Amino acid sequence: MGEGKGYDYSTSHRMLECVGIPALGVLTGLLAHEAAQGLRQRPEEAWWAVPTALFLAYLVADFVSGLVHFLGDNFGSETMPILGEAFIRPFREHHVDPLAITRHDFIETNGNNSLICLPAVAAAYTLLPARGELWAAWAALFVASFMLGIFLTNQFHKWAHLEAPPGWVQLLQRSRLILSPEQHDVHHTPPFDTYYCITTGWMNPVLHLTGFFPRLEAVLRWVFRCPKESATREMRT
Ligand SMILES: [Zn+2]
Ligand SMILES: [Zn+2]
Repeated sequence: MGEGKGYDYSTSHRMLECVGIPALGVLTGLLAHEAAQGLRQRPEEAWWAVPTALFLAYLVADFVSGLVHFLGDNFGSETMPILGEAFIRPFREHHVDPLAITRHDFIETNGNNSLICLPAVAAAYTLLPARGELWAAWAALFVASFMLGIFLTNQFHKWAHLEAPPGWVQLLQRSRLILSPEQHDVHHTPPFDTYYCITTGWMNPVLHLTGFFPRLEAVLRWVFRCPKESATREMRT
C-alpha cells in the first residue's frame, strides 16, 4: 500500500493509472484527429456533424455516469472481482465520507476512468474508417468526446464537493456546463435515490421526473431476483 505517499491504494495500481491517463490522452487525440481529417473532406456536412456529435456525446456521458453510479450505489458487492474495487466500493464509501474525494489528487481522481475508457478508444481508433465515411467520422468524434466526458466525470464530481473551487470552475458550475454543487446536493440528501448523474447533471431533472431509476431498480430486482438490502441505505449519512 502507499501510506505516506499521498494515496492509500496499491503502488501497482497507481503506476497503471500514471500510464493510463497519458495513454488515453494520446489515443483520444489520435481519434479526434482522424475525425477531423474525415470531416475536413466534407465541409458541407461538418457544420451539423460537429455540434451534434459534441452535444450528444456530453449528454450520453452524463447519462452513463448516472447509470454506473446508480448500479454502484444499489447493486453488487464491494468484494466482487474488478467491478467491486473499481466502482462499487468508491461509490459506497463516497456516501460514508463525501469529502474524501476532495483529498484525492488528479491521478487518484481520474485514473480509474482513464483505464476504463482506454479499450473503447483503442477499438474506435482501430475499427472506425473515419477518413473514408461520414458516419465513421461522426462516430469517431462522438466516441472521442464521450470518452473525454467520462474521463472528466470524477473531476467534475470532486469539484462539486469542494468548499471553494477556483473561480473559473465556479463559472463553469454556475453556467451548468459541469455538475453544480447545488444539483449534486440533491443526491446526497435522503433518501439518496435520485440525481445520480455527475458529469453535467443535465439528465438529472429528466430522469427524476420520469422516475427512470426507481423503475429500472424495480425491473432489475425482479429480473435478477435480488431484493433490496437495507444495509446499503443504512451506511449512508
Ligand atoms: Zn451515490
Ligand atoms: Zn458526491
